[in-house]
Amino acid sequence: MKYKNELDKSSKKFYCPKCSKKRMVRFINLDGDYLPAEYGRCDRVLKCGYFNKPNGGDDISNMHVIYPPKPKPPTSFIKREIFEASMRGYERNNLYQYLIKHYDENLVKYVFLKYNVGTSKAWGGSTVFWQMDGSGKLRSGKVMKYNADSGKRVKKPRPLITWAHSLLNLNQFNLKQVLFGEHLLSDLNNENVVCLVESEKTTLVCAIEFPQFNWIATGSFQLFRPKSLQVLKESSIIVFPDTDAHDAWVKKAAEISTDLKIEIDVSDFLKKKSVKSNSKKGLDLADILVRNNDIKAQLETEFNTILKTKIMRHPILGKNIESFDKDMVIDLSSFKKLLCFSKIG
Ligand SMILES: [Zn+2]
Repeated sequence: MKYKNELDKSSKKFYCPKCSKKRMVRFINLDGDYLPAEYGRCDRVLKCGYFNKPNGGDDISNMHVIYPPKPKPPTSFIKREIFEASMRGYERNNLYQYLIKHYDENLVKYVFLKYNVGTSKAWGGSTVFWQMDGSGKLRSGKVMKYNADSGKRVKKPRPLITWAHSLLNLNQFNLKQVLFGEHLLSDLNNENVVCLVESEKTTLVCAIEFPQFNWIATGSFQLFRPKSLQVLKESSIIVFPDTDAHDAWVKKAAEISTDLKIEIDVSDFLKKKSVKSNSKKGLDLADILVRNNDIKAQLETEFNTILKTKIMRHPILGKNIESFDKDMVIDLSSFKKLLCFSKIG
């Protein structure tokens, strides 16, 4: 009979028999059942060090009946009608209202439709960043409220953030997140160079300012991981981390790069900027870029430096990359297609 025990991969912790802190991870069998309470590892590795493996003299294989492993719950999706119904109401969408103060409204509408950004009634005028996978299915939408004047997230008295499936009261919803903008990956331009940022809002601002690049967001640092970036395996990535977590991103980028064998360049543009400005709070690319031609010009230089390094590594890219510094005009025929679909006008 096949028997396999392993440490429970969930975040559940139990009381440690040695140090009595609730920090012990227990062993589970193939069926997902816990082995007796003494088998486990305390995660206070240095201060406690308790680790009792189920092997040696203890014959525990007869304590549990073995069943085939439980199937993993299937990924849940949101109905297309719900998504489509959210793709309007921009007159009360605070982030949209902020952006049209700084950019041509057609351009703002274009990126909202391209990136599947809708409006939610939550807290009056929130923004929904839908996560659509490569096959066009909707995993869920992240709902956040912004201040229409500053364009910043409302975080007081508490951060106004939730998920579409929570607002819809969908029980036992199994959310499997994808990258924000993942649905656009089948149609990359510029030799598959993908610019990766953390926040969804940054993606929208950068897509307006630098439409010649492919902008994608992880949505959080936690999603900057090999599993989520698998879809970028064919791409060459440039990451723009927020300043407050720059070093963590650099470290993680090296791990992902080794794991997936992909090229990741991490830009320290923002880090240098925040040192210069002596800013204690983290800088976000979107906040300094909006309608700031100086920053835009400096970023263009940054792009060219990174791209030149890339070309040196892969001379074959050179002939296509020359056009990178040219301004690109947004293809309005695709914009019209989007407009037809959403019936916004
Ligand atoms: Zn312990």
